[in-house]
Amino acid sequence: MTQHRHITGRLVIATHNPGKLAEMRELLAPYGVEAVSAAELNLGEPEETGTTFQANARIKAIAAANATNLPAFADDSGLAVDALDGQPGIYSARWAGRDKNFLAAMTHIERLLQERGATEPAQRGAHFVSALCVAWPDGHLEEVEERVDGTLVWPPRGNAGFGYDPAFLPNGHSRTFGEMTSVEKHGLPPHGLGLSHRAKAFVKLAEICLASRP
Ligand code: IMP
Repeated sequence: MTQHRHITGRLVIATHNPGKLAEMRELLAPYGVEAVSAAELNLGEPEETGTTFQANARIKAIAAANATNLPAFADDSGLAVDALDGQPGIYSARWAGRDKNFLAAMTHIERLLQERGATEPAQRGAHFVSALCVAWPDGHLEEVEERVDGTLVWPPRGNAGFGYDPAFLPNGHSRTFGEMTSVEKHGLPPHGLGLSHRAKAFVKLAEICLASRP
């Protein structure tokens, strides 16, 4: 059986996204792990040439671990729409264009769904995926992937969250991610439900890589 490795001390968060960094800092603080961002260390962003979420998370984590000689964490995530054969998938950020226009991206998805006659909730299934990777300078890797299933609503609802949140209704709930507080969406038990793909993946990673919470 593979031996899991614990994260201790400093960890590079291989993201240039301040939102993701803040979320990770919050999640890691109780475990005594100090999160340093790739942006703070002036690290470049490697090209995401992978064809899966996991492959892209791995590319980013390995590049940061090699550049800093510290363990490095990276994530890759996105929205996969069943009726669109999993699109936009790893291209979720790119579908919003250079100006990060997610209303336009959601409108585009809606147009494609309408073209396919996907008007009933059962035809509008989608899931968010979160792949996480921690890479050590000696080549050791820890990887997890999780998803949250739901349906796409139209028009989008709510101003909270980011990206495709306002169009995503998680299964078993009556409000979209865009209508939920961040604690509801991402918060870990006992404060939140650990609902989102990232929260679920983080819980899984914590189970294998972090010492038990103080
Ligand atoms: P990444 O930064 O390469 O992981 O890009 C992920 C993209 O997927 C984001 O820009 C969003 O468009 C979308 N995405 C990932 N997670 C979420 C989420 O929790 N809510 C809404 N959109 C998300």
